[in-house]
Amino acid sequence: MVKNNMKYTFPKVDLHLHLDGSFRPSTIWELVQKQGVEMPADTLEGYEAWMEKCSRSGSVNEYLKMFAAPLQVMQDRESLIRVTSELIEDLAKLGLAYAEIRFAPQLHTEKGLSQREAIEAVLEGRRIGLENNPEIKIGIICCMMCVGTEDLNWDANMETAKITHEYLDKGVVCIDLAGAEGFVPLSNFAPLFKTAADLGTPAICHAGDSQDWHTVKDAIDMGAVRIGHGHHIYENPELSRYAADHNIALEICPTSNVHCCTRESYAMHPAWNLYSIGVPVTINTDNMTMSRVTLDDEYDHCLNEMGFEYEDLILMNMNSVKYSFMKEEDKKELLDKLQKCLEEISE
Ligand SMILES: [Zn+2]
Repeated sequence: MVKNNMKYTFPKVDLHLHLDGSFRPSTIWELVQKQGVEMPADTLEGYEAWMEKCSRSGSVNEYLKMFAAPLQVMQDRESLIRVTSELIEDLAKLGLAYAEIRFAPQLHTEKGLSQREAIEAVLEGRRIGLENNPEIKIGIICCMMCVGTEDLNWDANMETAKITHEYLDKGVVCIDLAGAEGFVPLSNFAPLFKTAADLGTPAICHAGDSQDWHTVKDAIDMGAVRIGHGHHIYENPELSRYAADHNIALEICPTSNVHCCTRESYAMHPAWNLYSIGVPVTINTDNMTMSRVTLDDEYDHCLNEMGFEYEDLILMNMNSVKYSFMKEEDKKELLDKLQKCLEEISE
C-alpha cells in the first residue's frame, strides 16, 4: 500500500507515471498466485525485498527485470481494470490533483486482447477510479514501444499510432514512445509520429535519458511537445535555450534517473540548472513501485539535494499544469489554487 505521509499540501501533478511500474505489489502477488506465474521469491515480502534490491542495484537490466511479473499478469481486461483503478485511488490518497498515466497497449495483447480492448479496459479502470475518487483528474497516455530496431514491432506501433485518436475524447490524451533508447536513431520512428499527427493526436516522447541530447532534438523534430526525461539537453546549451524559448517541457523523474544510472546522483542532476534558465521543468515519479518512491519523496530530494526551494515546487507544478493535456477550465482552476499557495508562502 502507498504511504500516506502527505507533506506537501499544494495541488500536485504527475505527468510521467507508468501503469506497469506503479502497481500495488500485493495485487500483482495475488494475480501471480492465481495465474501460476513463476516469481523470483516465495512470498510477497520476498517479492518486495527483491524489488528493493533490483531498484538499488545500479543496473538498468536488473531494474527492467521488475517489469516482467506485472506485465505477465496484466493480460486480461479484469487485471487492467483493477490495476488502473487501484493506482488512481493511491494517487488520490497521496494528494495528487491530476496525473497522466501511461501504458503500452501492445504489451497487453499476449492472451488475446487487442490493443483497442486493452485501451478500453484501462479506460474502464479510469472510470471506476474517478467515480470512487472524484477529487482527482486523470489522463491516459498510449505508448508506442522501442524494443530494438524499429522493424521489430513496427506494425504494433503503427496500430497504436493509428487507433489512439479514437479515444482522445474518452480519457486518452496523447501518444508517447517509450522503451529502450539507442538501438537505432530515434528519427527512424518519425513515420509513426507523422501518422499520429495527421490524425490529430498530440505526441510526447521519451528521449535524452540513457542517450545524449541528439535524441531530444530528434523528438522535437518529430513533433513531440513534451519530453520524457530529456535532461541530457543540459550538455547542449543551445538546445537547452531552444527548449526554454519554445516551451518544450521536460518530465524529470529524479529517482528513476538515479536508479537507472542516467545521472550519478540527485546532487549531480541538472534539473535545477535547466529550470534556472527557463526550461519548463516538471517533477514526476516514472515508476512508483519499481523505484519505491512517491511524488512527496521526489520533492524531498528536490529540496534536500537538488537545489530547489519550496517555492520552486509550486512553480514546477504550475509548469505541470500548463504543459499537461487537461481541459483549459481545469488548468485555470488548478493554476489559481497554486497561485494562492504561492502567495501564502510569500506573506
Ligand atoms: Zn518513462
